[in-house]
Amino acid sequence: MLGGGPAGSAAAILLSQWGHPVRLITRATADARLAVSLPPSCHKLFDAIGVGEAIAGAGFVRATGNTVWWGHADPRVEMFAAGALGWQVPMDRLDAVLLAEAAAAGVTIERRAIGEADLEVGPDRFVIDATGRSGLLARRHGVRVYDDGPRTIALSGEWTRADSWPVPDDTHTLIESYESGWAWSVPTSPGTRHLAVMVDPQRSGLVRGTTAREVYLAEIGKTVAFKQLIGTAALSEGPSGWDASGYRADQYAGDNWLLAGDAGSFIDPLSSAGVKKALASGWLAAVAVHSGLVAPALRGHALAFFSQREQDIERHYARISRQFLAEAAPTHPHAFWLDRADLPESAAAVDAGAVRAAYSQLRTSPDLRLRTGDAIVEPRPCIHGHEIVLEPHIVTGSEAVRFVAGVNIVALRQLGPAYSQVPDLFEAYCRREGDVALPDFLLALATTVARRWLVAQ
Ligand SMILES: Cc1cc2nc3c(=O)[nH]c(=O)nc-3n(C[C@H](O)[C@H](O)[C@H](O)COP(=O)(O)OP(=O)(O)OC[C@H]3O[C@@H](n4cnc5c(N)ncnc54)[C@H](O)[C@@H]3O)c2cc1C
Repeated sequence: MLGGGPAGSAAAILLSQWGHPVRLITRATADARLAVSLPPSCHKLFDAIGVGEAIAGAGFVRATGNTVWWGHADPRVEMFAAGALGWQVPMDRLDAVLLAEAAAAGVTIERRAIGEADLEVGPDRFVIDATGRSGLLARRHGVRVYDDGPRTIALSGEWTRADSWPVPDDTHTLIESYESGWAWSVPTSPGTRHLAVMVDPQRSGLVRGTTAREVYLAEIGKTVAFKQLIGTAALSEGPSGWDASGYRADQYAGDNWLLAGDAGSFIDPLSSAGVKKALASGWLAAVAVHSGLVAPALRGHALAFFSQREQDIERHYARISRQFLAEAAPTHPHAFWLDRADLPESAAAVDAGAVRAAYSQLRTSPDLRLRTGDAIVEPRPCIHGHEIVLEPHIVTGSEAVRFVAGVNIVALRQLGPAYSQVPDLFEAYCRREGDVALPDFLLALATTVARRWLVAQ
């Protein structure tokens, strides 16, 4: 394992738990100057990796939501659903907790710089590149892709304030769009916050020789809410700069190598999902490697499956970021926003209309009367427990689908023509495949009809 950030630790812990010897090489833990926010949904990944208790005991600030000034002056206070809590974590402390868990799980950890020799492993072994932006294997295999889009630099400093911060909730991540960039703040303890501005290096003073500190303070000066935030606060550390420009890979796995987390792709920090994506990617890399080791005949399928999933995930986050950036663009007629505001209509949005139409058709027709459509059904890889196995999928072009909203649509497609009433079909499905929630079932049925895998007559 190369790299001991969230992706590397997650993959190492799981592989070790599943009985494989794992060696992890990494430099000292991450930079204390970077603090990030993690959404509540990370808890599922922490539990799946077996580090839930260690994270709960680490004393991180627990966030109740976000406060956002995005394209307008009034704050939007967004609480996490159902009282769930996120985490505000200094990256060095998160890495330390995960690496301690990796050591406890039996991973051999070597703290040093990774050398050329570490990139070579025999054909019977696997190497996972989890070196983040360094992407040592990604670069060696020439698979990293930088699109022509604008570059983004994050300038981040730590601020302390004796009185309370002028915000609705001090546990919140704060985000403000302004004329030539956006600003973001994460609390690390009461009285201490990290404040970052995301700027375009070509369009800020950075290329003209102005110091990072001058650019940083000038950018905060353009904000409304963040300017008030630092009113009586002191800059206790920084600012430090990070390259926050996006990149991806045109292949995420080869014969015996995989790219996990930021080594494969970097998504806009606006999503607050980099760590979640890295943990999920580490988990999936572990599943792919485990499958290749216990079932060598499936090795090629497992690696191809991993590569495809990573590509899908990068595209998903890229689309969400573009939509979010496009929301603020009309308010700020500046090149920073115009460069980032191209918003192609997403395939998902087109699909959603067809699914809604199919849903209302299903609700208004007295009888179902479905017949099987002309879909191709083929065995394709999917995850079963800790392993990648081959199961039937509906294949259209490059897409292979087995589940929609947790409902097995291959089974649904087989059952559909035999029933004339939705409740009967629902009952038959649950008897055969196990219980699912009715709304999920209806969404899957509507999708199946919208995609013409089942045709309503
Ligand atoms: C400004 C900014 C703000 C962000 N905000 C958020 C946020 O709010 N929420 C969020 O979830 N994510 C955020 N992220 C993204 C998040 O930090 C990353 O997505 C996440 O850390 C990726 O984890 P990783 O394990 O893939 O890589 P990394 O965390 O980068 O870990 C890579 C590891 O490899 C090691 N390594 C690299 N090269 C070598 C070498 N040559 N020799 C030895 N070791 C090496 C490093 O020391 C490190 O331990 C932000 C990122 C930036 C830059």
